[in-house]
Amino acid sequence: MNNSVLDIDVLVSGLEDEVKDLRRDFHMYPELGFQEFRTAEKIEEYLKNLGLKPERVADTGVVSVLEGGGSGPTLLLRADMDALPVTEENKIPYASLNNGIMHACGHDAHMAILLGAAKILVKYKDIIKGNIKFVFQPNEEIAGAKILIDAGVLENPKVNSAMGLHIWAPLKSGEIGLKAGPVFASMDIFKITVKGKGGHTGYPETAVDPIIAAADIIQTSQIIQTREISLLKPTVLIFSKVNAGATNNIIPETVTLQGSLRYLYEGGSESPEHPSDRLKRIVKGVCETHNCSFDMNLERENSVLVNDPEMVEIMRVAATVTLGDDRNIVEHVTMAGEDFAEFAREVPSVFAFLGAGNHEKETDFPHHNSRFNIDEDVLLIGVELLVRSSLRYFKIKETGGNKDSE
Ligand SMILES: [Zn+2]
Ligand SMILES: [Zn+2]
Repeated sequence: MNNSVLDIDVLVSGLEDEVKDLRRDFHMYPELGFQEFRTAEKIEEYLKNLGLKPERVADTGVVSVLEGGGSGPTLLLRADMDALPVTEENKIPYASLNNGIMHACGHDAHMAILLGAAKILVKYKDIIKGNIKFVFQPNEEIAGAKILIDAGVLENPKVNSAMGLHIWAPLKSGEIGLKAGPVFASMDIFKITVKGKGGHTGYPETAVDPIIAAADIIQTSQIIQTREISLLKPTVLIFSKVNAGATNNIIPETVTLQGSLRYLYEGGSESPEHPSDRLKRIVKGVCETHNCSFDMNLERENSVLVNDPEMVEIMRVAATVTLGDDRNIVEHVTMAGEDFAEFAREVPSVFAFLGAGNHEKETDFPHHNSRFNIDEDVLLIGVELLVRSSLRYFKIKETGGNKDSE
């Protein structure tokens, strides 16, 4: 293993064209969540060529276990597979051929990076004491992880730890974002129907106007994030869809308000801050004041993604070797959601941000934008980070470097 630093460098740089080609192929044929059939076939074919035995889970998910040369823990490495309902506006030779669908979040790169890492890790099979479970997960954008976990992806062999990464345009190319604790926000989505009594706008006293009540709910509920919960506990309440009314001279019967509540601290709506309970309290109080009634529906879409400190430390050492030093390892968090959170709830995990923003290359458009693109020069950083982090994980576990020995 003393030569492994050199070996990995050579192995990684040898994959430059292959990983780029994989990414471009996925980019040209994007598929929406749980429709990633072509994508899954391509992944299966690649893994089979590595001598692995991929299996399908939840129709389009692909899972494959690399059994190491000795017994030990099982590390899960995950890439997401789905694209978005966005029409690509990039003028690039490998632009999307599937009309109205685009890899506008970078999941094409995640798959290419994990396949590249798998190709290298199989070469280290004999020195790995344990197993690596490669998981290609469908439908990240709408909480696909939970479905894979329910289908048993954390069993047989039982997964002990998990790692993942996300291409990240807000960070510069060459930077890696790593931090222990909450890094991606939790998100609850809600729909509130405010019920009044419809009527003639010339006789408002005979009606109950739900629009004033709805406006009051939107205003008053802002105190949750600005007055009731500490600003040091990031909470964002956004009303993103408001529906009511037919025309100028009719007071409508109902107003519907839809939106999201995000939090970047452990527990989310079950936390001591109870932001969703606060929203319900305000809706109830305001509706009473306005003589309206209401229905409210709130559901959890993503949990908060909490990085385990020891797993972060393993990846931090690997990132330092990958980048040459630690100057470009930054602490980063976001109010966006990431369903890798569901794996991190089950086993100690680490999830990194892989910076890919480069203004000269026009790769600094926001995620989900029709001009989103990535700096392909960071693909190999991702491959090397996953390879080094995995090998370090098994080394630490074997030598008992972590407190919670397996
Ligand atoms: Zn996304
Ligand atoms: Zn994404």
